[in-house]
Amino acid sequence: MPKDTCGRFLAYVWLPATYEGETRYVLFNLLVVANGYAHAYTRHPFNGSYMEVFIESGRQAGLDKRGLWSEKGFASVTAEPPYNPIVYITNTGEKYQQYHCQYLLESRIPIRLSEAVYLGYEPCSVCRPPKSTLTRNSIEA
Ligand SMILES: [Zn+2]
Repeated sequence: MPKDTCGRFLAYVWLPATYEGETRYVLFNLLVVANGYAHAYTRHPFNGSYMEVFIESGRQAGLDKRGLWSEKGFASVTAEPPYNPIVYITNTGEKYQQYHCQYLLESRIPIRLSEAVYLGYEPCSVCRPPKSTLTRNSIEA
């Protein structure tokens, strides 16, 4: 899969949507922009005819105050960055740890707290690392 200069994956994602027995494909990227949860990034031009549709959809989402452009959306954006410290996992364990924990003798892999929680790691009961206020679902959303 191609990546941009920051190492992010670049793809058009087509989702099947069945309506009245007929399956059509919806461009997920456009769906996100049209609903106001992303803006079309046009600094690096992409597929010309798509680009126009993306820009217009994004403009319309802003005019209609959808998603991030709604006042509700802005109100829910916190001013402070989310609490997300580094914790440590091992090759084999199911817990995440603080740096100095006795269970980290064999391996010590630094990872963001949110990532550890997302991957299903539980906090160690010995060293009591910070707990995430985020749940798996709120990270995926
Ligand atoms: Zn521990």
